[in-house]
Amino acid sequence: MPEKPKLSVYWASSCGGCEIAVVNLHEKLLEVDRNFDFVFCPCLLDTKVADVEAMADGSIAVTFFNGAIRTAENEEMARLLRRKSRLLIAFGACSVAGSIPALSNLHSRESHLRTNFLDSPALDNPDGVVPQTRTLVPEGALELPAFFDTVKTLAQVVDVDYFVPGCPPEPHQIWNIVAAVIEGKPLPAQGGRLGAGPSSVCVECSRKKEDKTVGRFYRTWELIPDASRCLLEQGLLCMGMATSQGCGALCPAVNMPCTGCYGPPEGVRDQGAKMISALGSVLDIGPYKGMTEAELVAKTDAVLDSLPDLAGGFYRYSMAGSALRRSR
Ligand code: SF4
Repeated sequence: MPEKPKLSVYWASSCGGCEIAVVNLHEKLLEVDRNFDFVFCPCLLDTKVADVEAMADGSIAVTFFNGAIRTAENEEMARLLRRKSRLLIAFGACSVAGSIPALSNLHSRESHLRTNFLDSPALDNPDGVVPQTRTLVPEGALELPAFFDTVKTLAQVVDVDYFVPGCPPEPHQIWNIVAAVIEGKPLPAQGGRLGAGPSSVCVECSRKKEDKTVGRFYRTWELIPDASRCLLEQGLLCMGMATSQGCGALCPAVNMPCTGCYGPPEGVRDQGAKMISALGSVLDIGPYKGMTEAELVAKTDAVLDSLPDLAGGFYRYSMAGSALRRSR
């Protein structure tokens, strides 16, 4: 029987949701198993890093790499799997653009360590011990991977063949990619996106779009939106206009605003900037007849103040890959 192509799925700095998305292929997993030899997947198999190191370079057909690059270990594994894989796919929002882990780029490494190991009221750390990369104990030296100051995307560390956005990517999109590889279908030009369309979530959203002016914003718990009208028009920060299509507008379909997990639409460099510019044309701030400059400023401030968590709203999934990348 001919050898099956090798497949690996690795998680770096991530939550594990991308692995659940793979499990959500359900019975199609049997098809994956029929066509591939699953050689490396830390949450499923006990393959050791040494086993991967022993494989010939380029011997893994496809690696789905999820998770951002937060530690030296994440970076080492990215370099190792790049060497061993013919196709390296940045799989999921964290590896594509940093996602939630990269919101920590708004702070420094030192402030994370201080908060988590010294200042948190729930701590019991009287000696003020902070993790070190090397600690000597009577039994020998204990080592931890270095914790980087800045979370990076996979492509900021190694060359990436394709990008699959989503937090997590939708199973039907994952299947389309796996099926294309199984059937030997031509893939798009290298460096492109898989499992996402060229336009925005708004194109896939069936809600009525009528009067896109917003006089103030609400948190999701402050109102029950009309199930048929555009959520943005009702004052919820829906990122649909600045987010790539591909999910089928799942969140707006259940009365929740899009939070932007598929990243910016094709051709858009910075998701947050795109949303800020889109909002600039829909905010209802005046000026109205007889309005003084001070009233205009106050009205603008009131609308902007009602926008909760600007960085987390506009850059929740894309901070590391954005033009900002981190705070200075
Ligand atoms: Fe749908 Fe949100 Fe776009 Fe409105 S802004 S059309 S709710 S995806």
